[in-house]
Amino acid sequence: MASIFTKIINGEIPSYKIYEDEKTYAFLDINPEAKGHTLVVPKVEVDKIYDLEDDDWNALWASVKKVAKHMEEVTGRRVVMKVVGTDVPHAHVHLTPLSETWEYGKTLKLREDEFEEIRAKLAF
Ligand code: 5GP
Repeated sequence: MASIFTKIINGEIPSYKIYEDEKTYAFLDINPEAKGHTLVVPKVEVDKIYDLEDDDWNALWASVKKVAKHMEEVTGRRVVMKVVGTDVPHAHVHLTPLSETWEYGKTLKLREDEFEEIRAKLAF
């Protein structure tokens, strides 16, 4: 069965898309630790990030860098990066603009219009 992230990449489940290229897809995390919390995901469905083939690994980290740089430029914030992978068995990297209220693991509840506003600000 396809992972929830594969369904998002294929458009079967909606997402607030930030960035996409041939091998990767980035979208807002639905349970953000701060406004702008984004997941960068390889399009190939692999559970553990360190099991990615080199070309997918390189493409993923190139996109992580691109999205983080853009996020820092737009928000003026240092970007926190983490790899966890305990919830969704499809490799991904979390990127979050650091804010005063950021606390590891603590999440915000945002309305749809707030997600849309953030998406519009961060998408490129
Ligand atoms: P991890 O596997 O690294 O612990 O975390 C998985 C992340 O995926 C969580 O932060 C969770 O909020 C996010 N997530 C899980 N399901 C969905 C979903 O359907 N849509 C979005 N946008 N994010 C999701």
